[in-house]
Amino acid sequence: MTVRLEGRPVAEATDAASRSAIAAGRPGDLPPSLVSVHRGVDSPFRFYLRRQAKAAAALGITFRDTALAPADGPEALVAALRGLDRDPAVHGVLVEHPLPPPFDFFRAVDELRVEKDVDGVGARNLGRLLGQRPVQVPAVARAALAIAQHYRLPLEGERVAVVGRSPTVGLPLAVLLASPPPGANAAVTLLHSRSGDLARGLAGTTTIFSCVGRPGLLDRTTVPEGAHVVDVGLSSVPDPERPGAQKAVGDADPRALDGWAASLTPVPGGVGPVTVAELMAATVSSWKILSGATEAS
Ligand code: NAP
Repeated sequence: MTVRLEGRPVAEATDAASRSAIAAGRPGDLPPSLVSVHRGVDSPFRFYLRRQAKAAAALGITFRDTALAPADGPEALVAALRGLDRDPAVHGVLVEHPLPPPFDFFRAVDELRVEKDVDGVGARNLGRLLGQRPVQVPAVARAALAIAQHYRLPLEGERVAVVGRSPTVGLPLAVLLASPPPGANAAVTLLHSRSGDLARGLAGTTTIFSCVGRPGLLDRTTVPEGAHVVDVGLSSVPDPERPGAQKAVGDADPRALDGWAASLTPVPGGVGPVTVAELMAATVSSWKILSGATEAS
């Protein structure tokens, strides 16, 4: 039987730690605060905004979203981020991505100091991760690792695979898995669209982290029997049970892998809720550092 690795208990454990940290704050401290900056166009991002707002409210984190005006260009985004970076009442800032040209997401997010870049995707945070002195690590990478650690999947000294090498998801996850604690000391194989036959690349790996966005990529032809699968991929496909509606799916084909993989995270309900919890935890961590309760490393 394939074990279903639910994200909810992992997110709850992360939220409990965030709650304790907030409760231990000094009297008179401003509450932790998170701001999400986006272009205001209707996009799947609206769904994430609602989830972030709900998670923040449940923890006592102040949350607001800031939409750029339709005519605003890259300079307006940079100016908005500079203002938020200077604002002592703001502890975390998220920037919607991907952004269409002429916006440059990476150029913009580099306006944030490392603590406030709570998704850990700015150049300085990625550099700190590579230098094994992390401050903020991409939330989705921390979420994928948190799930694997919570369910005690084989990682330390094991051959694990990351499929996908984007600078915000797959690549930082691969670095985190290969790093000493808070990483996982794993022997990591990093695969991508040019790395050749996927089944050959995954052969002999015990835990697979898939970060692609291609439904059905992982099935019995690609995943070794008995492997554990953490499915980070998230795609929207037509829902056969509700004509005209869409549903979220991962990279793995759960039916094909049932009875074949040792375990699998569901989509939805796996990595997604843990990623939101990790974003909140990163905001609390920034709040502690910026209010002087914790030294930055
Ligand atoms: P991305 O920038 O499109 O990167 C996709 C990666 O997959 C690329 O490195 C690409 O290789 C690789 N790839 C494409 N086709 C492949 C194939 N056939 N075999 C092996 N590798 C292949 O996407 P992303 O931003 O990294 O996001 C990845 C997925 O994670 C998406 O589905 C996204 O929605 C999801 N996501 C989930 C969460 C969450 O909280 N659950 C958060 C963030 C992202 P090349 O580099 O060679 O092009």
